[in-house]
Amino acid sequence: MTKEKIAIVTGGGSGIGLAIVEKFIATGIRTIVVGRDEQKLKAAKEKFGTLCETSSCDLSNLATIPALVNELVQKHGHIDILVNNAGINLKKEFTDVTDEDFQRILQTNLTAVFALSREVVKCMLEKGIKGSIINISSMASQYGIPKVIAYTASKAAIEGMTKAMATELSPKGIRINCIAPGFIATDMSAKALNNDPERKAKALGRTPMGYLGDPADIGDAALFLASDAAKYITGVVLPVDGGNSIGF
Ligand code: NDP
Repeated sequence: MTKEKIAIVTGGGSGIGLAIVEKFIATGIRTIVVGRDEQKLKAAKEKFGTLCETSSCDLSNLATIPALVNELVQKHGHIDILVNNAGINLKKEFTDVTDEDFQRILQTNLTAVFALSREVVKCMLEKGIKGSIINISSMASQYGIPKVIAYTASKAAIEGMTKAMATELSPKGIRINCIAPGFIATDMSAKALNNDPERKAKALGRTPMGYLGDPADIGDAALFLASDAAKYITGVVLPVDGGNSIGF
């Protein structure tokens, strides 16, 4: 009998993460949604039913991560897939960003991704799992976007880390890939774009497909990268962006 696949999706209670959870559950993957907001977790559980598990955790509190992973492995036996989707943004003039601001963004978007991946990889190696880890970066790492210095630093680092992890872990059977979403219609992009029509026009103006992406577009890409259909793919950064990264 094949073992049930178990996935963790951080920030799976809203936006892109929620769409990834939906795709995973639709294909029978037991999916654990990790986030801070209990209401969002409850809503996800109600929406998706028995294949959806939830775990409340503030990932920026790094000390809690080993216990979180340990608890999930105790409960589910193993972890096959990790999607590092949770992230926060900060739109501020470069000179107004404090050291604390900068550190706060990096702590969630980068250091927590490292710490959670490390713990999950330990379990995958211990159990001999041929795992898949998917990181979520951003167009901010493909080209320069003003007023998002900490976010850009974190997302560029995620792409470098994806490649470093892929070279080290692929020989051990764990594939590491990254999705670089373009401008996707979620609360996060609404905050960044809706009060800034010039920025929105610029984002869409260089998107050959001419509209914001749907979170489900990222869900489909994540499902592909997590599946055996992508079994020879590791270390890639896949733009899912309506052509935004190559648009003029
Ligand atoms: P949302 O704000 O809807 O989702 C972010 C998720 O991250 C939330 O569910 C939130 O959960 C979770 N999260 C944030 N901080 C923490 C934390 N400390 N611990 C645990 N969970 C946390 O945004 P999107 O869906 O738009 O973004 C998802 C990812 O996609 C992010 O990494 C973002 O950078 C990336 N992205 C988005 C783009 C877009 O256009 N929307 C474009 C490019 C990249 P909770 O509220 O429960 O804390």
